[in-house]
Amino acid sequence: MARTPLLAGNWKMHKDHLEAIQLVQQVVYHLDERDYERSEIVVIPPFTALRSIQTLIDGDRLHIGLGAQHCHYEDAGAFTGEISPAMLAKLAVRYVVCGHSERRHVFGEDDETINRKVRAVLAHDMRPILCVGETDEERERGQAKEVVARQVQRGLEGVDVDRADDIVLAYEPVWAIGTGKTATPSDADEMCGFGRNQLADVFGEDAAQRIRVQYGGSVKPGNVAELMRQEQIDGALVGGASLQADDFAAICRYHRM
Ligand code: PEP
Repeated sequence: MARTPLLAGNWKMHKDHLEAIQLVQQVVYHLDERDYERSEIVVIPPFTALRSIQTLIDGDRLHIGLGAQHCHYEDAGAFTGEISPAMLAKLAVRYVVCGHSERRHVFGEDDETINRKVRAVLAHDMRPILCVGETDEERERGQAKEVVARQVQRGLEGVDVDRADDIVLAYEPVWAIGTGKTATPSDADEMCGFGRNQLADVFGEDAAQRIRVQYGGSVKPGNVAELMRQEQIDGALVGGASLQADDFAAICRYHRM
């Protein structure tokens, strides 16, 4: 089953809107048809840069997509500081990250909240990137699979099988995020395959074979090609390395290495 790789750069709380424009222009300067035909390439800037990047993508007809890092699950209301999925959809946002480990661990988001976000994102015809992954302690205790199974199953509760193709799963072991430690390609492959098995439990085997499963955790130009060669890995969710134009462009050109 051919799944189009999804390479997405999560900029976290970095880059103002002017720096964001510059970064996108520098990234696309290094890319061409070979890269766009091979993979879907997405940038996920902070909220304040979404409009500027959307305008740049439209105006210059760039072949990249736009993502958001987070949203509330309600369409509108008294939720000071929050951004709704309806607002993101109006900006032509295609993907929304749900359940990133920083949202889970720093901001206390639980599986139920994440599930509400996943369903709200789908309701607005955008695609959730559901992030799952175990902490160092959970891995030490031999609980990695149990944690991933729970996060996948609860994160997708109530999602209709008809929407399975709009889901992206990102396996991101917490101990590998921003630490420079990467799961070995075979460990990452095994865990992404395990994530796919959970998707099969939720949606059935056929749908699970179509869903893209990304790996995330210290992906860099030097390790991306080997990770992308693994059967169960259909892309990368990239944090730190997506902030450097040369590095993110090199990651998007992984197939030329
Ligand atoms: C992330 O934030 O999703 C991530 C994988 O970060 P990094 O690539 O910096 O480890």
